[in-house]
Amino acid sequence: MQLTFLGTGGGLPSPSRGVSALALQIGRDVLLFDCGEGTQRQFMLSPVSFMKVSNIFISHFHGDHFLGLPGLIQSMNFSGREDGLHIYGPEGTVEFVKAAATLGAFRPLFDIYAKEMADGDTVELGACSVKAMAADHTVPALSFVIEEAERRGKFNSQRARELGVPEGPLFARLQAGERVSVNGREVDPDEVMGPPRPGRKVVYSGDTRPSKVLLDAARGAEVLIHEATLDSSLEEGAMEYGHSTARAAAELARAADVGQLILTHISTRYDSTEVLESEAKEIFPETVVAHDLMSIPVRLRDRTQ
Ligand SMILES: [Zn+2]
Ligand SMILES: [Zn+2]
Repeated sequence: MQLTFLGTGGGLPSPSRGVSALALQIGRDVLLFDCGEGTQRQFMLSPVSFMKVSNIFISHFHGDHFLGLPGLIQSMNFSGREDGLHIYGPEGTVEFVKAAATLGAFRPLFDIYAKEMADGDTVELGACSVKAMAADHTVPALSFVIEEAERRGKFNSQRARELGVPEGPLFARLQAGERVSVNGREVDPDEVMGPPRPGRKVVYSGDTRPSKVLLDAARGAEVLIHEATLDSSLEEGAMEYGHSTARAAAELARAADVGQLILTHISTRYDSTEVLESEAKEIFPETVVAHDLMSIPVRLRDRTQ
């Protein structure tokens, strides 16, 4: 699992930041969360190919989160895409995608499937699931929880050796869940494999005021990606326009006991993010302010408890 921040600015693009877009690589798949204007060009500047995007999740229909879609779709077509593309978002998604996919003299040569999600809806994608939650914004908006599928338990090689299993192909068969036969005795995978382990969890807030629903959903997540449009001296304005401050995001990260907080959707008023970073780190030290093209792996937390 790898996160690549394609655009990290809020409201409108600036010379230093594109607008919201976040790529999540999981296996060979790429999921895209939001698609602000210029996202396709940000892809070209990153190691991630937009042709690999299988599913797009739009948090809401403010321009800085969706205006990159028509261009991205047309470029996918231009590049010979044949695979279907799934686009999810709040109410209005089906109508918008229908319009975006036939903008100008353009007709796509690949299938596009649009689906609207409401609070609590989940999309199962095999390697992970994506759950939508209502965000607290000024228009209908969603936050997303990405949960990796359960992972196999840990292989106890010492126990396997004690049972007489020689290291090599038989180890691999046990790890794959097969029974093996050693010296006339059957060894069951259950004897050498630990219990299944939960997958990784990543939460993306989209645009939102601090939200109790999001806090509950983010509990124990490896990574919380939270908007931090403004600093806490501008809290009133943040609340009025349905946004969060860096401090509020950090408080939420601490309360939810997440592994790492990544702040994004930074207002164009900040040339330096020092003020956002320091007020957040005071509360939650494991904080990073995202910048365009920042790429980080999602590391599994140690859940020995
Ligand atoms: Zn926004
Ligand atoms: Zn918005």
